[in-house]
Amino acid sequence: MNVGIIGLGLIGGSLGLALKQRGWEGEIKGYDAKEVHGKKALELGIIDNLAGSLEELVEGADIVVVAVPVRAIPDLIVRVSSISREVIITDVGSVKSYILKEIQKRVGNRYIKYVPGHPIAGTEKSGPGAAEADLFEGKRVVLCQRGFREVEEMWETAGAIVEYLDPETHDKIFAAVSHLPHFVAYSLVEAIVMMEEEKDAFFRFVASGFRDFTRIASSDPVMWRDIFLTNKKAILQSLIFFRNALDKLESLIVMEDEEKLEELLRDIKEVRDRVIKGIK
Ligand code: NAP
Repeated sequence: MNVGIIGLGLIGGSLGLALKQRGWEGEIKGYDAKEVHGKKALELGIIDNLAGSLEELVEGADIVVVAVPVRAIPDLIVRVSSISREVIITDVGSVKSYILKEIQKRVGNRYIKYVPGHPIAGTEKSGPGAAEADLFEGKRVVLCQRGFREVEEMWETAGAIVEYLDPETHDKIFAAVSHLPHFVAYSLVEAIVMMEEEKDAFFRFVASGFRDFTRIASSDPVMWRDIFLTNKKAILQSLIFFRNALDKLESLIVMEDEEKLEELLRDIKEVRDRVIKGIK
């Protein structure tokens, strides 16, 4: 089964590497808008062949995986589907309802063989140089359309565990557990910039707490711009809860309620420790 990957960055590149190193039978072809990324992907053994156009990528492919920032995904899916009605199209975008809505705007009720997907794995790095063959090992990949064993097999070969969610539930969950933490990490760095009167002095004293908390604020700005804008409603909803949590902690400090503050911190620590234990 031949796979074509559009976007040879962290996620597309890691998928190509994983498939090639884990015995996927079939060609892995790649296409990237940035020529240097395509060449680098070839050099790193991420793909067998580099396509010069979308038409070339789709030719002979059984599955096409779209691995570019969210707002560029719907157009590419529609373009691929108009090159071939047979090819199975899937993607890795971090937001799902937006992509489905945009596709429908463009094609109406015309059927497209599209399996919305989202691997729950990643790092703050980007580009083909950041690709890792074992990025998906033991990690979940969420699909929003059943009935395509080929896509399940592709992810299982890459080491992932397939789960199904409907698009709205997906977007709500990831607004809370992924998009909100990124929003908060970016905001925290910005808050310190705003607080600083003497910039050098503040940032000169940051240590591991700052580094651990803000690692994800080094993520790709285009990718996160797209996620924040396309999952706006669910993110704004989770921000209401975040503000309430801030207020709750703040009021305990203002009231100097030693007992309640310690109790709340203890409860939060317990939840965090338990949740982290379950992460592979
Ligand atoms: P990335 O490392 O920046 O890779 C994306 C690649 O696609 C880049 O080479 C980019 O080139 C290229 N590209 C952009 N627009 C294109 C287009 N229209 N046609 C062809 N190629 C194009 O990003 P990534 O981290 O792999 O993220 C890709 C997708 O995975 C996003 O939708 C993201 O939401 C999702 N995702 C990311 C993570 C994560 O942790 N990073 C986790 C799960 C899902 P340029 O550099 O020139 O733009």
